[in-house]
Amino acid sequence: MILIDGKKAASELREELKKEVILLKEKYNKVPGLSVILIGEMAPSQIYVRNKEKSANEVGLKSEVIKYPDTVEEETILKKIKDLNHDENVSGILVQLPLPKHIDKQKVIETIIPSKDVDGFHPMNVGNLSSGYESSVPCTPLGCYLLIKKIEPNLNGKKAVIVGRSNLNGKPMTQLLLKENCTVTITHSKTKDLKAECLKADIIVAAVGIPELVKGDWVKKDAIVIDVGINKTERGLLGDVAFDEVSKVAKALTPVPGGVGPMTIACLLKNTIDCFKRSQN
Ligand code: NAD
Repeated sequence: MILIDGKKAASELREELKKEVILLKEKYNKVPGLSVILIGEMAPSQIYVRNKEKSANEVGLKSEVIKYPDTVEEETILKKIKDLNHDENVSGILVQLPLPKHIDKQKVIETIIPSKDVDGFHPMNVGNLSSGYESSVPCTPLGCYLLIKKIEPNLNGKKAVIVGRSNLNGKPMTQLLLKENCTVTITHSKTKDLKAECLKADIIVAAVGIPELVKGDWVKKDAIVIDVGINKTERGLLGDVAFDEVSKVAKALTPVPGGVGPMTIACLLKNTIDCFKRSQN
């Protein structure tokens, strides 16, 4: 079984991006810039944002974190986003989720100009992705896609089953694999026989949030299994896939932690650089 090393893949991607930033600097005499808006003091968000800033600096991007207390007015955030939309030193804008209840998440997402939407959440980017046009793609499914392609460069005609239909993971994952000519089934909490669906899959991507939902006898021999789940449990951090069981049948499997997680941030940097390149053309 191939243990898919997300840390290594992310480190390789960052190295490639670092080289690309040097070339872009030579060509345009400036580097891509990432602006992250962080609202409130929630510990996980603080950690995510710190890691994003650290990784951005490592590859040579210009990055800034703009912090607000969780009492900040929605209008202040929208005004800041509009200013960043017009700032030519800013290539990418990210508002760290979740937001305090009084701030409308969809309004925030739609205020970010699509060309700087490094999370790929804007309806314009969602539409472009589903139409097969160039767009920013949400970072986690993009990371999963790159890991799958490392194992199997030709996905033509493969049967993929996505478990979970969130806008963040399941739906964009479906679009990415459709683009690669996979036959994709998207499953969710109302799916009748999830085990039977999974058993047909050459590729399974599990993004649910239920520890060890996907069992060993749900997986066809030699399937590629990507585990997006991050679940804090009494037994520690667990994915959505029963690792010990599935590792006995799968051809390749991502661990949790150390699988999809590290790729998410690396893909954010990739998206920022891609936004910069599109803005220069
Ligand atoms: P979500 O709650 O938005 O969506 C979960 C999906 O799972 C829903 O579509 C729901 O229909 C489906 N679902 C629920 N119960 C099910 C069941 N019994 N059978 C089949 N489908 C079922 O979750 P999300 O934001 O997509 O996150 C999913 C998981 O991925 C979480 O554990 C989250 O922490 C993790 N996550 C990891 C990363 C990363 O970087 N590794 C990034 C984002 C999210």
